[in-house]
Amino acid sequence: MSAALTLAPATGTPTSLLTVDLGAVATNLATIRAHTRAEVLAVVKADGFGHGAVAVARTALAHGATGLGATRLEEAWALRAAGIYAPVLSWLNPVDADWVRAADARVAVAVPSLAHLRAIASAAAHSGRTVTVHLHTDVGMSRDGASPTEWGPLVALAARAQRRGLVRVAGLMGHLGLADEPGGDPAGRAAFDRAVAVASAVGLRAPRHLAATAAALTDPASHHDLVRVGAGLVGIDPSGTVALRPAMRLTAPVVQVRDVPAGSLVGYGRSHRTRTATRLALLPVGYADGLPRQAAERAAVLLGGRRRPVVGPISMDQVVVDLGSDPCPVRPGDLATVFGPGDDGEPTIHDWARWAHTLPHAIVTGLGERATRCWLPAGAHR
Ligand SMILES: *Cc1c(COP(=O)(O)O)cnc(C)c1O
Repeated sequence: MSAALTLAPATGTPTSLLTVDLGAVATNLATIRAHTRAEVLAVVKADGFGHGAVAVARTALAHGATGLGATRLEEAWALRAAGIYAPVLSWLNPVDADWVRAADARVAVAVPSLAHLRAIASAAAHSGRTVTVHLHTDVGMSRDGASPTEWGPLVALAARAQRRGLVRVAGLMGHLGLADEPGGDPAGRAAFDRAVAVASAVGLRAPRHLAATAAALTDPASHHDLVRVGAGLVGIDPSGTVALRPAMRLTAPVVQVRDVPAGSLVGYGRSHRTRTATRLALLPVGYADGLPRQAAERAAVLLGGRRRPVVGPISMDQVVVDLGSDPCPVRPGDLATVFGPGDDGEPTIHDWARWAHTLPHAIVTGLGERATRCWLPAGAHR
């Protein structure tokens, strides 16, 4: 079935635009700080949850965060290369990571096992450096961090290595697995308290940190000296209890508008056939740009002042939106908002996550390279 009418396509390269509102990051950090007396470590792993690690880091530091968190050391190097000299903690590295470089860059590293600590102490001994470490205890996820059986030997060895000047123990850390559930994670908190007591029995005392965003917002008993906040900075509250502001907006220009008769198939396969004659708009964003295919037939975008359903499958590079018989014109070049903070009725990352049965975290960290990225400075008027 051919299109009855095809309007002229927009000229130029159609490009989607990813706008990060650093003012939202600042606002979210203020909200989080109002919930805790602890220091805030801004977690900027995975490129600042897709928002730009350097931009989010600078904004957070300018608004009261006292340090930065990164998963891998490579992420820490990138912060240093950008001229950010605030304390950085990196917590997931192979045993043979470049511990000497970490010491030279004044990047602290989490220690999740005896094997890691031995490698760090040996690198320190050979190079004459002191590596700053945070001892990481598993409090119930069987994931990262030393198991309860390994923890005792780990803190004992760390105390000896500290006396020899090989390491400086600057933190005791854990990470809660159930903090986003109502009631929080009391078992995880208790496991952490036991681990702290074991460390203190061998003479190790250091700032303690356990809470991430959900616990920072809901469970003061977990805050200790420092909270590590990532998702909350960019507007995601895993506990679902506090209104934070999503910092990301994704827009895409309409490439083409066409009228189709009733019964037209839309996109690959037979998943969608138009029920009536209708007008369709083509947007140049698809799953390669991070739109989850699983959201098809539930998803919508804001276009021409209204939410319009995405119809047919989400392709790699494009989606089709049904404009219906709305007399308000939508033309090539008009901007559709795929998601944003929701101020004008546009979908949010939370909507997309619901439509795709995933987490908003996965939406923001899964965006492709193609969108042009730009950052609105904190303090700029929206
Ligand atoms: C990702 C992560 C955080 C931040 O968690 P959010 O829920 O995004 O605030 C804190 N600590 C560790 C160890 C992490 O991996």
